[in-house]
Amino acid sequence: MQSLKNAINKNMISNAYIFNGAKGCGKLTAARVFAAGINCTNKTDRPCGYCNSCKKTDIGANPDILYISPIGSSIKIEQIRELISAISKKPYENPYRIIIIENGDKMGHEAQDAFLKTLEEPQGNNVFILLTENFNTLHQTIISRCQLFNFQSVGKNIMRDYLTNKYNYNADEVGFAIEKSSGIIGRAIEILEKGEILSDDIYYDLLGRLLTKKRATALAIYDEIIGNKEDALNLLIFLMEWFRDVLLYKYSKNNGSVPRKRRSLLEEYDRRIKEEDIFAIIDKIKSGIRLMDFNINTKNIVDSIFLKIMEVFDG
Ligand SMILES: [Zn+2]
Repeated sequence: MQSLKNAINKNMISNAYIFNGAKGCGKLTAARVFAAGINCTNKTDRPCGYCNSCKKTDIGANPDILYISPIGSSIKIEQIRELISAISKKPYENPYRIIIIENGDKMGHEAQDAFLKTLEEPQGNNVFILLTENFNTLHQTIISRCQLFNFQSVGKNIMRDYLTNKYNYNADEVGFAIEKSSGIIGRAIEILEKGEILSDDIYYDLLGRLLTKKRATALAIYDEIIGNKEDALNLLIFLMEWFRDVLLYKYSKNNGSVPRKRRSLLEEYDRRIKEEDIFAIIDKIKSGIRLMDFNINTKNIVDSIFLKIMEVFDG
C-alpha cells in the first residue's frame, strides 16, 4: 500500500478507488486509514492519529467521511440519489469528503448508472472508495474511472507491524491476536481491543492452580472472576478450548493457538493427562454448559468440573 501513502504525501488524490479483496482482508481498515491520511492536518507522517481530523475519523465521528452499505441484498438507486444530493455541497470541515462504499460490488444496475454519472462529472472534493470482493460485477465504465487496488490477505508481518505501531500492545499479545485471527486484521484488532488476552491471564492462573490439585485455591479464583452466569459460561468455554488445544498438541505438537508464555503450561498438561481423560473432561464441560441453562448453582457446576480435572492428573 506504499502507493496509497505516496498519494497522501504528494497530495495526489484520485477521484475514485476500488479496494478489492476477500472478506476480512483489511479493505475497510485500509480505507479508514487512507481517509484519515487524506484529511490529516499534519504535514508529514499522515495519518498522524493526533490531529482533530484524525481523532474524529478514529472514533467514527468525522462528518466528512460517509459510509454506504447495501440495504438488504443490494445498494439501491435511491441510496445513490441521496448520496449525490448529500455530496453536492462542500465538505464540512475537511479539504476532502470521503465516501466509503462497502460491498460496492452489490450495487444494482440502475444504481451503477447513477453512480457513473457522478464519476463522469466529479464536483467538489469528493473521493470515493469502493470496497469489493469481486470488482468485475461493476460496469467496465466505472472500473475504468477508478484506481484499482487488489488486496491479498494481509501477511503476518504486515499485520504485526501495523498492530505494534498503531496500538500499544507488546509483541506477545500481538502475536497471539494474529494467530487467533487467522490473518483477518479486523478480528485481530477486536481481540486486542476487547482485552481478551488480559482477561485470559487469570484463566491461565487458574489452570496452573488446578495442576497443584488444591481445590480451595482454584475456587478462590472462581469467587474472584465469576459475577454471573455469563462469566461462568465464558470460563467453561475457555476451559473447553484449552483442553481441545491440549488434545491438538498431543496429536500434532502444534501449539500455535496458545500464547507463547503459556506454552510450558500446555506441555505440562500434555505430560500429565491421558488422551481418554481429556475426552472425559471435555464431555464434562459440555454437560456443565448445558446445565447452565437450568437453575442449578453455577458454582457447584464449575466445582464439579474442577474436581474432574484434578482427579485425572497423575503424579
Ligand atoms: Zn492527523
